[in-house]
Amino acid sequence: MSIKFYNTLTRKKEDFKPIDEKEIKMYSCGPTVYYFAHIGNLRAYLFMDTLRRVLKYNGYKLKHVMNITDVGHLVSDADEGEDKMMKAAKRENKDPFEIAKFYMDAFLADIDKLNVDRPEIIARATEHINVMEEYVKKIIENGFTYQTEDTVYFDTSKLDKYGVLSNRNVEDQKAGARVEFDQNKKNISDFALWIKAPENHIMKWDSFFGKSYPGWHLECSAMGCKYLGDHFDIHTGGVDHIPIHHENEIAQSKGYSGKIPANFWMHVEFLQINGGKMSKSLNNLYTLKDLEDKGYEPLVYRMFNFTSNYRAQINFTFEAMDSAKIALNRLREGYLKHCEGNSDVSNDEITAYKQRFLDAINDDLNMPVAMSVVWDVIKNPNKSQKFKNLLLEFDEVLGLNLKNYKKEENVLPEDVLELVKARNEARINKNWTESDRIRDILIEMGYTVKDSKEGTIVQK
Ligand code: AMP
Ligand code: ZN
Repeated sequence: MSIKFYNTLTRKKEDFKPIDEKEIKMYSCGPTVYYFAHIGNLRAYLFMDTLRRVLKYNGYKLKHVMNITDVGHLVSDADEGEDKMMKAAKRENKDPFEIAKFYMDAFLADIDKLNVDRPEIIARATEHINVMEEYVKKIIENGFTYQTEDTVYFDTSKLDKYGVLSNRNVEDQKAGARVEFDQNKKNISDFALWIKAPENHIMKWDSFFGKSYPGWHLECSAMGCKYLGDHFDIHTGGVDHIPIHHENEIAQSKGYSGKIPANFWMHVEFLQINGGKMSKSLNNLYTLKDLEDKGYEPLVYRMFNFTSNYRAQINFTFEAMDSAKIALNRLREGYLKHCEGNSDVSNDEITAYKQRFLDAINDDLNMPVAMSVVWDVIKNPNKSQKFKNLLLEFDEVLGLNLKNYKKEENVLPEDVLELVKARNEARINKNWTESDRIRDILIEMGYTVKDSKEGTIVQK
Protein backbone atom coordinates (compact mmCIF):
# COMPACT_ATOMS: atom_id res chain seq x y z
CA MET A 1 0.00 0.00 0.00
CA SER A 2 1.57 3.30 -1.00
CA ILE A 3 1.70 6.32 1.26
CA LYS A 4 1.32 9.70 -0.38
CA PHE A 5 2.44 12.95 1.23
CA TYR A 6 2.35 16.47 -0.12
CA ASN A 7 5.94 17.64 -0.49
CA THR A 8 6.47 21.41 -0.29
CA LEU A 9 9.79 20.92 -2.08
CA THR A 10 8.21 19.58 -5.28
CA ARG A 11 4.80 21.21 -4.75
CA LYS A 12 2.94 17.96 -5.32
CA LYS A 13 1.70 14.81 -3.61
CA GLU A 14 4.31 12.09 -3.99
CA ASP A 15 4.71 8.44 -3.08
CA PHE A 16 6.62 8.27 0.16
CA LYS A 17 9.56 5.86 0.04
CA PRO A 18 11.86 5.73 3.05
CA ILE A 19 15.61 5.94 2.48
CA ASP A 20 16.04 2.94 4.77
CA GLU A 21 13.03 0.58 5.04
CA LYS A 22 14.04 -0.36 8.59
CA GLU A 23 13.78 3.10 10.12
CA ILE A 24 12.32 6.44 9.07
CA LYS A 25 14.38 9.47 10.03
CA MET A 26 12.50 12.65 10.63
CA TYR A 27 13.00 16.14 12.10
CA SER A 28 10.41 18.57 13.45
CA CYS A 29 10.99 22.20 14.33
CA GLY A 30 10.02 22.54 17.96
CA PRO A 31 8.88 25.42 20.14
CA THR A 32 10.64 28.55 21.30
CA VAL A 33 10.23 28.26 25.04
CA TYR A 34 9.65 31.82 26.19
CA TYR A 35 5.96 31.54 27.02
CA PHE A 36 3.13 28.99 27.20
CA ALA A 37 2.32 27.41 23.84
CA HIS A 38 -0.94 28.69 22.37
CA ILE A 39 -3.44 26.37 20.74
CA GLY A 40 -2.15 27.36 17.27
CA ASN A 41 1.33 26.13 18.21
CA LEU A 42 -0.25 22.98 19.58
CA ARG A 43 -1.94 22.30 16.24
CA ALA A 44 1.58 22.01 14.77
CA TYR A 45 2.46 19.27 17.29
CA LEU A 46 -0.83 17.45 16.77
CA PHE A 47 0.03 17.32 13.06
CA MET A 48 3.50 16.00 13.93
CA ASP A 49 1.86 13.40 16.17
CA THR A 50 -0.58 12.22 13.49
CA LEU A 51 2.29 11.86 11.04
CA ARG A 52 4.22 9.74 13.57
CA ARG A 53 1.19 7.60 14.31
CA VAL A 54 0.39 7.03 10.64
CA LEU A 55 3.95 5.96 9.88
CA LYS A 56 3.94 3.59 12.87
CA TYR A 57 0.53 2.21 11.86
CA ASN A 58 2.12 1.35 8.50
CA GLY A 59 4.69 -0.70 10.41
CA TYR A 60 7.66 1.66 10.34
CA LYS A 61 10.11 2.30 13.14
CA LEU A 62 10.96 5.94 13.69
CA LYS A 63 13.95 7.98 14.68
CA HIS A 64 12.49 11.42 15.13
CA VAL A 65 14.15 14.55 16.50
CA MET A 66 12.42 17.68 17.75
CA ASN A 67 14.39 20.70 18.90
CA ILE A 68 13.64 23.04 21.76
CA THR A 69 14.73 26.61 20.95
CA ASP A 70 16.01 27.87 24.26
CA VAL A 71 18.58 30.32 23.02
CA GLY A 72 17.36 33.56 21.50
CA HIS A 73 18.93 36.77 20.32
CA LEU A 74 19.58 38.27 23.70
CA VAL A 75 20.47 41.86 22.89
CA SER A 76 19.80 45.09 24.72
CA ASP A 77 16.75 47.22 23.96
CA ALA A 78 18.92 49.55 21.86
CA ASP A 79 19.86 46.77 19.47
CA GLU A 80 17.77 45.32 16.72
CA GLY A 81 16.08 41.97 16.36
CA GLU A 82 13.48 40.01 18.20
CA ASP A 83 14.47 39.08 21.66
CA LYS A 84 11.95 36.58 22.95
CA MET A 85 13.96 34.94 25.71
CA MET A 86 15.26 38.27 27.03
CA LYS A 87 11.81 39.82 27.04
CA ALA A 88 10.52 36.86 29.02
CA ALA A 89 13.46 37.08 31.43
CA LYS A 90 12.69 40.76 32.08
CA ARG A 91 8.95 40.19 32.29
CA GLU A 92 9.37 37.54 34.94
CA ASN A 93 12.54 38.88 36.51
CA LYS A 94 14.28 35.54 36.08
CA ASP A 95 17.36 34.08 34.49
CA PRO A 96 16.70 33.10 30.83
CA PHE A 97 17.87 29.53 31.51
CA GLU A 98 15.25 29.28 34.26
CA ILE A 99 12.60 30.69 31.88
CA ALA A 100 13.55 28.15 29.22
CA LYS A 101 13.34 25.22 31.64
CA PHE A 102 9.97 26.34 33.01
CA TYR A 103 8.31 26.81 29.60
CA MET A 104 9.89 23.69 28.16
CA ASP A 105 8.37 21.65 30.99
CA ALA A 106 5.01 23.40 30.47
CA PHE A 107 5.15 22.60 26.76
CA LEU A 108 5.95 18.94 27.37
CA ALA A 109 3.10 18.74 29.91
CA ASP A 110 0.72 20.22 27.30
CA ILE A 111 1.67 17.77 24.57
CA ASP A 112 1.40 14.90 27.06
CA LYS A 113 -2.14 16.01 27.92
CA LEU A 114 -2.96 16.00 24.22
CA ASN A 115 -1.62 12.44 24.10
CA VAL A 116 1.07 13.41 21.60
CA ASP A 117 3.45 10.56 20.95
CA ARG A 118 6.76 12.19 21.90
CA PRO A 119 9.65 12.13 19.39
CA GLU A 120 12.45 9.71 20.23
CA ILE A 121 14.91 12.58 20.69
CA ILE A 122 14.09 15.98 22.15
CA ALA A 123 17.14 18.19 21.71
CA ARG A 124 17.71 21.51 23.48
CA ALA A 125 19.72 24.07 21.53
CA THR A 126 21.70 25.17 24.60
CA GLU A 127 22.95 21.62 25.09
CA HIS A 128 24.34 21.52 21.52
CA ILE A 129 26.38 24.71 21.23
CA ASN A 130 29.56 22.73 20.46
CA VAL A 131 27.71 20.72 17.78
CA MET A 132 26.61 23.99 16.16
CA GLU A 133 30.14 25.39 16.40
CA GLU A 134 31.64 22.40 14.57
CA TYR A 135 28.89 22.66 11.97
CA VAL A 136 29.45 26.35 11.28
CA LYS A 137 33.22 25.88 11.08
CA LYS A 138 32.73 23.47 8.20
CA ILE A 139 30.41 25.89 6.37
CA ILE A 140 33.14 28.53 6.74
CA GLU A 141 35.80 26.08 5.52
CA ASN A 142 33.63 25.26 2.49
CA GLY A 143 33.60 28.93 1.50
CA PHE A 144 29.94 29.80 1.96
CA THR A 145 30.39 32.68 4.40
CA TYR A 146 31.81 36.15 4.92
CA GLN A 147 32.50 37.95 8.18
CA THR A 148 32.01 41.44 9.50
CA GLU A 149 33.45 42.55 12.80
CA ASP A 150 30.64 41.01 14.79
CA THR A 151 28.82 38.51 12.54
CA VAL A 152 29.52 35.48 10.37
CA TYR A 153 26.99 35.62 7.52
CA PHE A 154 25.88 32.91 5.16
CA ASP A 155 26.43 34.08 1.57
CA THR A 156 23.33 32.91 -0.28
CA SER A 157 24.74 33.98 -3.66
CA LYS A 158 27.22 31.07 -3.37
CA LEU A 159 24.38 28.61 -3.82
CA ASP A 160 23.14 27.39 -7.19
CA LYS A 161 19.73 28.50 -5.98
CA TYR A 162 18.44 30.04 -2.75
CA GLY A 163 14.71 29.72 -2.20
CA VAL A 164 14.05 26.16 -3.39
CA LEU A 165 11.03 25.71 -1.10
CA SER A 166 9.30 28.99 -1.77
CA ASN A 167 10.70 29.23 -5.32
CA ARG A 168 12.41 32.56 -4.78
CA ASN A 169 15.39 33.87 -6.65
CA VAL A 170 18.38 35.42 -4.89
CA GLU A 171 19.08 37.66 -7.94
CA ASP A 172 15.82 39.48 -7.20
CA GLN A 173 17.02 40.23 -3.73
CA LYS A 174 20.45 41.77 -4.32
CA ALA A 175 21.76 44.62 -2.20
CA GLY A 176 20.18 47.94 -3.10
CA ALA A 177 17.04 46.33 -4.45
CA ARG A 178 13.56 47.53 -3.49
CA VAL A 179 13.73 46.54 0.18
CA GLU A 180 16.01 48.18 2.70
CA PHE A 181 18.19 45.79 4.67
CA ASP A 182 21.16 45.47 6.96
CA GLN A 183 23.97 47.23 5.03
CA ASN A 184 26.54 44.71 6.28
CA LYS A 185 24.89 42.00 4.21
CA LYS A 186 25.83 41.41 0.58
CA ASN A 187 22.48 39.90 -0.37
CA ILE A 188 19.13 40.52 1.17
CA SER A 189 18.61 36.80 1.81
CA ASP A 190 21.95 36.38 3.63
CA PHE A 191 21.58 35.57 7.30
CA ALA A 192 23.62 35.42 10.49
CA LEU A 193 25.26 32.10 11.38
CA TRP A 194 27.27 33.23 14.38
CA ILE A 195 27.25 36.48 16.30
CA LYS A 196 29.69 38.18 18.66
CA ALA A 197 27.91 38.88 21.95
CA PRO A 198 27.64 42.47 23.13
CA GLU A 199 28.68 43.08 26.74
CA ASN A 200 25.06 43.00 28.02
CA HIS A 201 24.22 39.77 26.26
CA ILE A 202 23.25 37.08 28.75
CA MET A 203 23.43 33.81 26.82
CA LYS A 204 26.91 33.58 25.30
CA TRP A 205 29.63 30.97 24.88
CA ASP A 206 33.40 30.94 24.26
CA SER A 207 33.98 29.96 20.65
CA PHE A 208 36.15 30.55 17.58
CA PHE A 209 34.50 33.98 17.44
CA GLY A 210 35.16 34.97 21.07
CA LYS A 211 32.21 35.32 23.43
CA SER A 212 29.40 34.70 21.01
CA TYR A 213 26.23 32.81 20.20
CA PRO A 214 24.69 30.97 17.25
CA GLY A 215 22.20 32.42 14.76
CA TRP A 216 18.77 30.96 15.35
CA HIS A 217 18.48 28.86 12.16
CA LEU A 218 21.64 26.92 12.89
CA GLU A 219 20.37 24.62 15.63
CA CYS A 220 18.01 22.69 13.38
CA SER A 221 20.64 21.98 10.72
CA ALA A 222 23.33 21.03 13.23
CA MET A 223 21.17 18.88 15.53
CA GLY A 224 19.35 17.26 12.61
CA CYS A 225 22.70 16.27 11.12
CA LYS A 226 24.09 15.02 14.45
CA TYR A 227 21.21 12.63 15.08
CA LEU A 228 19.92 11.80 11.59
CA GLY A 229 22.89 12.32 9.27
CA ASP A 230 23.11 14.78 6.37
CA HIS A 231 20.25 13.21 4.43
CA PHE A 232 17.04 11.95 6.02
CA ASP A 233 13.39 11.30 5.15
CA ILE A 234 11.06 13.99 6.44
CA HIS A 235 11.30 17.52 7.83
CA THR A 236 8.22 19.17 9.35
CA GLY A 237 7.18 22.60 10.56
CA GLY A 238 4.52 25.27 10.25
CA VAL A 239 3.84 27.11 6.97
CA ASP A 240 5.50 30.19 8.46
CA HIS A 241 8.80 28.29 8.31
CA ILE A 242 8.72 27.90 4.54
CA PRO A 243 10.05 31.27 3.33
CA ILE A 244 12.90 31.89 5.78
CA HIS A 245 13.68 29.33 8.44
CA HIS A 246 13.54 26.26 6.21
CA GLU A 247 15.16 28.04 3.26
CA ASN A 248 18.01 28.94 5.57
CA GLU A 249 18.24 25.41 6.93
CA ILE A 250 18.52 24.13 3.37
CA ALA A 251 21.14 26.79 2.57
CA GLN A 252 23.20 25.80 5.63
CA SER A 253 22.99 22.11 4.80
CA LYS A 254 24.09 22.77 1.23
CA GLY A 255 26.99 24.79 2.59
CA TYR A 256 27.87 21.95 4.95
CA SER A 257 27.36 18.82 2.85
CA GLY A 258 26.10 19.97 -0.54
CA LYS A 259 22.76 18.28 0.12
CA ILE A 260 19.17 19.27 0.80
CA PRO A 261 18.84 17.53 4.18
CA ALA A 262 15.41 15.92 3.77
CA ASN A 263 13.49 14.33 0.90
CA PHE A 264 10.06 15.39 2.13
CA TRP A 265 9.20 18.82 3.59
CA MET A 266 5.77 18.87 5.21
CA HIS A 267 4.10 22.00 6.58
CA VAL A 268 1.01 22.47 8.70
CA GLU A 269 -1.34 25.40 7.99
CA PHE A 270 -2.35 27.87 10.66
CA LEU A 271 -5.17 27.77 13.15
CA GLN A 272 -7.34 30.85 12.89
CA ILE A 273 -9.74 32.23 15.47
CA ASN A 274 -13.18 33.41 14.41
CA GLY A 275 -11.82 33.71 10.89
CA GLY A 276 -8.85 35.89 11.86
CA LYS A 277 -5.44 35.86 13.47
CA MET A 278 -4.88 34.98 17.10
CA SER A 279 -3.21 37.73 19.04
CA LYS A 280 -2.75 38.93 22.58
CA SER A 281 -4.03 42.41 21.69
CA LEU A 282 -7.31 40.97 20.37
CA ASN A 283 -7.58 38.95 23.57
CA ASN A 284 -8.21 35.77 21.60
CA LEU A 285 -5.02 33.85 22.26
CA TYR A 286 -5.79 30.69 24.18
CA THR A 287 -3.60 28.11 25.87
CA LEU A 288 -4.58 24.54 26.61
CA LYS A 289 -5.16 25.57 30.23
CA ASP A 290 -7.63 28.27 29.07
CA LEU A 291 -9.59 25.56 27.26
CA GLU A 292 -9.50 23.31 30.33
CA ASP A 293 -10.72 26.20 32.50
CA LYS A 294 -13.66 26.59 30.13
CA GLY A 295 -14.54 22.91 30.58
CA TYR A 296 -12.92 21.33 27.51
CA GLU A 297 -10.64 18.40 28.20
CA PRO A 298 -7.48 18.43 26.03
CA LEU A 299 -8.65 15.48 23.91
CA VAL A 300 -11.61 17.59 22.73
CA TYR A 301 -9.07 19.92 21.11
CA ARG A 302 -7.43 16.89 19.46
CA MET A 303 -10.84 15.77 18.18
CA PHE A 304 -11.54 19.29 16.85
CA ASN A 305 -8.33 19.16 14.79
CA PHE A 306 -9.53 16.06 12.94
CA THR A 307 -12.26 18.14 11.29
CA SER A 308 -9.71 19.57 8.86
CA ASN A 309 -6.74 18.37 6.85
CA TYR A 310 -3.40 19.67 8.16
CA ARG A 311 -2.80 21.53 4.88
CA ALA A 312 -5.96 23.60 5.26
CA GLN A 313 -6.45 26.40 7.74
CA ILE A 314 -8.79 25.53 10.55
CA ASN A 315 -11.08 28.03 12.20
CA PHE A 316 -11.33 27.83 15.97
CA THR A 317 -14.64 28.78 17.56
CA PHE A 318 -16.17 27.70 20.84
CA GLU A 319 -19.20 26.42 18.92
CA ALA A 320 -16.85 24.11 17.01
CA MET A 321 -15.31 23.02 20.33
CA ASP A 322 -18.78 22.25 21.69
CA SER A 323 -19.45 20.08 18.64
CA ALA A 324 -16.10 18.33 19.12
CA LYS A 325 -17.00 17.71 22.78
CA ILE A 326 -20.32 16.14 21.84
CA ALA A 327 -18.65 14.10 19.08
CA LEU A 328 -15.97 12.77 21.44
CA ASN A 329 -18.62 11.70 23.96
CA ARG A 330 -20.67 9.98 21.25
CA LEU A 331 -17.61 8.24 19.98
CA ARG A 332 -16.78 6.96 23.46
CA GLU A 333 -20.35 5.84 24.09
CA GLY A 334 -20.40 4.11 20.71
CA TYR A 335 -17.16 2.35 21.55
CA LEU A 336 -18.57 1.14 24.90
CA LYS A 337 -21.63 -0.28 23.12
CA HIS A 338 -19.35 -2.39 20.92
CA CYS A 339 -17.46 -3.47 24.07
CA GLU A 340 -20.72 -4.97 25.34
CA GLY A 341 -21.79 -6.51 22.02
CA ASN A 342 -21.62 -10.11 20.84
CA SER A 343 -22.91 -9.96 17.26
CA ASP A 344 -21.16 -12.01 14.65
CA VAL A 345 -19.44 -9.89 12.03
CA SER A 346 -17.70 -11.22 8.94
CA ASN A 347 -13.96 -10.77 8.52
CA ASP A 348 -14.62 -9.30 5.08
CA GLU A 349 -16.57 -6.48 6.63
CA ILE A 350 -13.69 -5.72 9.04
CA THR A 351 -11.15 -5.86 6.19
CA ALA A 352 -13.23 -3.42 4.13
CA TYR A 353 -13.34 -0.89 6.98
CA LYS A 354 -9.60 -1.30 7.54
CA GLN A 355 -8.86 -0.68 3.89
CA ARG A 356 -10.95 2.49 3.78
CA PHE A 357 -9.27 3.80 6.92
CA LEU A 358 -5.79 3.03 5.59
CA ASP A 359 -6.58 4.62 2.22
CA ALA A 360 -7.62 7.81 4.01
CA ILE A 361 -4.66 8.16 6.37
CA ASN A 362 -2.17 7.23 3.64
CA ASP A 363 -3.62 9.89 1.39
CA ASP A 364 -1.60 12.72 2.94
CA LEU A 365 -3.11 12.16 6.41
CA ASN A 366 -6.72 12.73 5.38
CA MET A 367 -8.18 12.67 8.87
CA PRO A 368 -11.68 13.98 8.04
CA VAL A 369 -12.19 10.97 5.73
CA ALA A 370 -10.57 8.60 8.25
CA MET A 371 -13.02 9.91 10.87
CA SER A 372 -15.97 9.19 8.57
CA VAL A 373 -14.86 5.53 8.53
CA VAL A 374 -14.62 5.56 12.33
CA TRP A 375 -18.20 6.90 12.54
CA ASP A 376 -19.43 4.18 10.18
CA VAL A 377 -17.99 1.57 12.56
CA ILE A 378 -19.41 3.34 15.62
CA LYS A 379 -22.89 3.53 14.07
CA ASN A 380 -22.94 -0.04 12.80
CA PRO A 381 -26.10 -1.54 14.35
CA ASN A 382 -24.35 -4.87 15.00
CA LYS A 383 -22.50 -4.44 18.25
CA SER A 384 -19.45 -6.64 18.28
CA GLN A 385 -16.10 -7.36 19.94
CA LYS A 386 -14.57 -7.32 16.48
CA PHE A 387 -15.65 -3.71 16.02
CA LYS A 388 -14.35 -2.87 19.48
CA ASN A 389 -10.93 -4.26 18.52
CA LEU A 390 -11.08 -2.45 15.19
CA LEU A 391 -11.74 0.86 16.96
CA LEU A 392 -8.82 0.23 19.29
CA GLU A 393 -6.63 -0.38 16.25
CA PHE A 394 -7.83 2.85 14.61
CA ASP A 395 -7.17 4.63 17.89
CA GLU A 396 -3.45 3.96 17.43
CA VAL A 397 -3.73 6.72 14.83
CA LEU A 398 -6.43 8.83 16.48
CA GLY A 399 -4.77 8.88 19.90
CA LEU A 400 -8.10 9.39 21.71
CA ASN A 401 -7.10 6.93 24.41
CA LEU A 402 -10.24 4.80 23.98
CA LYS A 403 -8.80 1.77 25.74
CA ASN A 404 -8.66 3.67 29.03
CA TYR A 405 -12.13 5.09 28.71
CA LYS A 406 -14.64 4.00 31.30
CA LYS A 407 -18.08 5.36 31.89
CA GLU A 408 -17.84 8.05 34.52
CA GLU A 409 -19.51 7.10 37.77
CA ASN A 410 -22.22 9.53 38.74
CA VAL A 411 -20.28 11.10 41.60
CA LEU A 412 -21.90 14.36 42.64
CA PRO A 413 -19.81 17.26 43.93
CA GLU A 414 -20.16 18.36 47.55
CA ASP A 415 -22.25 21.53 46.85
CA VAL A 416 -24.71 19.51 44.75
CA LEU A 417 -25.04 16.88 47.49
CA GLU A 418 -25.84 19.67 49.97
CA LEU A 419 -28.59 21.00 47.67
CA VAL A 420 -30.06 17.52 47.17
CA LYS A 421 -30.10 17.01 50.95
CA ALA A 422 -31.80 20.38 51.52
CA ARG A 423 -34.35 19.57 48.81
CA ASN A 424 -35.12 16.17 50.38
CA GLU A 425 -35.76 17.90 53.71
CA ALA A 426 -38.07 20.43 51.99
CA ARG A 427 -39.97 17.57 50.36
CA ILE A 428 -40.33 15.74 53.69
CA ASN A 429 -41.73 19.00 55.13
CA LYS A 430 -44.01 19.33 52.09
CA ASN A 431 -42.40 22.72 51.37
CA TRP A 432 -42.96 22.47 47.61
CA THR A 433 -41.95 26.06 46.87
CA GLU A 434 -38.54 25.48 48.44
CA SER A 435 -38.16 22.09 46.79
CA ASP A 436 -38.97 23.59 43.36
CA ARG A 437 -36.59 26.47 43.97
CA ILE A 438 -33.71 24.06 44.72
CA ARG A 439 -34.63 21.91 41.72
CA ASP A 440 -34.36 25.00 39.48
CA ILE A 441 -30.91 25.76 40.90
CA LEU A 442 -29.78 22.19 40.16
CA ILE A 443 -31.12 22.41 36.60
CA GLU A 444 -29.36 25.74 36.15
CA MET A 445 -26.14 24.00 37.26
CA GLY A 446 -26.58 21.41 34.51
CA TYR A 447 -28.22 18.53 36.42
CA THR A 448 -31.37 16.56 35.72
CA VAL A 449 -33.63 15.88 38.71
CA LYS A 450 -36.06 12.95 38.65
CA ASP A 451 -38.30 12.11 41.59
CA SER A 452 -39.56 8.56 41.84
CA LYS A 453 -40.93 6.16 44.48
CA GLU A 454 -37.36 4.91 45.08
CA GLY A 455 -36.08 8.44 45.75
CA THR A 456 -34.60 11.31 43.79
CA ILE A 457 -32.09 10.70 40.99
CA VAL A 458 -29.78 13.62 40.21
CA GLN A 459 -27.46 13.33 37.22
CA LYS A 460 -25.07 15.63 35.35
P1 AMP B 1 7.26 28.98 17.90
O1 AMP B 1 7.24 28.48 19.30
O2 AMP B 1 6.84 30.41 17.75
O3 AMP B 1 8.57 28.68 17.23
O4 AMP B 1 6.14 28.14 17.12
C1 AMP B 1 6.01 26.76 17.27
C2 AMP B 1 5.25 26.16 16.12
O5 AMP B 1 3.92 26.63 16.06
C3 AMP B 1 5.85 26.46 14.75
O6 AMP B 1 5.90 25.23 14.03
C4 AMP B 1 4.87 27.41 14.10
O7 AMP B 1 4.85 27.23 12.72
C5 AMP B 1 3.57 26.94 14.72
N1 AMP B 1 2.51 27.95 14.77
C6 AMP B 1 2.55 29.21 15.23
N2 AMP B 1 1.34 29.81 15.15
C7 AMP B 1 0.49 28.89 14.64
C8 AMP B 1 -0.92 28.86 14.32
N3 AMP B 1 -1.73 29.93 14.53
N4 AMP B 1 -1.43 27.72 13.82
C9 AMP B 1 -0.66 26.63 13.62
N5 AMP B 1 0.65 26.59 13.89
C10 AMP B 1 1.23 27.70 14.41
ZN1 ZN C 1 13.83 24.51 12.76
